[in-house]
Amino acid sequence: KDPILEVQNLKKYFQMNRNETLKAVDGISFTLNEGETLGIVGESGCGKSTLGRTILGLYEKTEGNIRYKGKNYPQTKRDRFKLTKEMQMIFQDPYASLNPRSTVYDLIAEPMDIHGLYPNKKQRLHRIEELISEVGLTKEHLNRYPHEFSGGQRQRIGIARALALEPSLIIADEPISALDVSIQAQVVYLLKQLQKEKGLTFLFIAHDLSMVKYMSDRVGVMYLGQLVELTTSDKLYQHPLHPYTEALLSAIPIPDPDIEEKRERIILEGDVPSPIDPPSGCVFRTRCPRAMAICSKIKPNFNEIEKNHFVACHLYQHQEEKYKEKEVGV
Ligand code: SF4
Ligand code: MG
Repeated sequence: KDPILEVQNLKKYFQMNRNETLKAVDGISFTLNEGETLGIVGESGCGKSTLGRTILGLYEKTEGNIRYKGKNYPQTKRDRFKLTKEMQMIFQDPYASLNPRSTVYDLIAEPMDIHGLYPNKKQRLHRIEELISEVGLTKEHLNRYPHEFSGGQRQRIGIARALALEPSLIIADEPISALDVSIQAQVVYLLKQLQKEKGLTFLFIAHDLSMVKYMSDRVGVMYLGQLVELTTSDKLYQHPLHPYTEALLSAIPIPDPDIEEKRERIILEGDVPSPIDPPSGCVFRTRCPRAMAICSKIKPNFNEIEKNHFVACHLYQHQEEKYKEKEVGV
């Protein structure tokens, strides 16, 4: 599969005041293939939403490169506007992102207006009825207002709105974390269904590792503005390598009681450091149970240490060299 999105060394810094810079996204690289779901997990404040918004162009990047379908991300506002048709976002809080004074019809029609789609009224109504039924609501809902719906239904409206422009890539920023647990699975199921039907590509941002596993082909783990591990979701859950991933996973109960290997709960000491003043060397070193002397001095590279498995940790430096030797056949 071809990459739809290539992100290289992406940085998004916010200047807080004259002396302080918040490094929300600090050198992130990954590739997203067409039709794939890449999950991004991390604690709140790790920069995952900023990453999504910077990719969408809602924030101006500070440094790095974003390529969409093999082309550099457009520089001009006008070209970027065209690209917004292809990339859409689903937000965490559908209530905050939907104008309370607009009917469902208007909410879905708005992006069409902005991009000049379906100027013919009859065709537009037809398309909007189609969209609303695709997300599991009915045309009777079109004249109602957001407050008349439950949280799960509102998220469905948000999804219909995102689909209105027939995007290829959807960035879903914690689309289910504001919903009741019983509703979460339904919305995830809907997203998967839509992905299958429309061949959508997803960047699925979440802090909940268990939902991400169900949703994603690959998962990237973020800590303090950086990706620390990225691999297929099976590998990540069965064989995590980065000490931070190990700790995150150890907090999830293993659903299968037959699994012999009991994961020991790893409790991380201390708080996440401030992204205004991140630690030298490895960003995780102030909380890492396995930190070594080198970790405070040298920042570990984000290396591919086996096929499709990237880790930023000094513990695996040699593994990377071996993998490279094997690949070039030395
Ligand atoms: Fe821990 Fe060092 Fe690896 Fe960072 S590089 S995760 S501090 S062992
Ligand atoms: Mg967020």
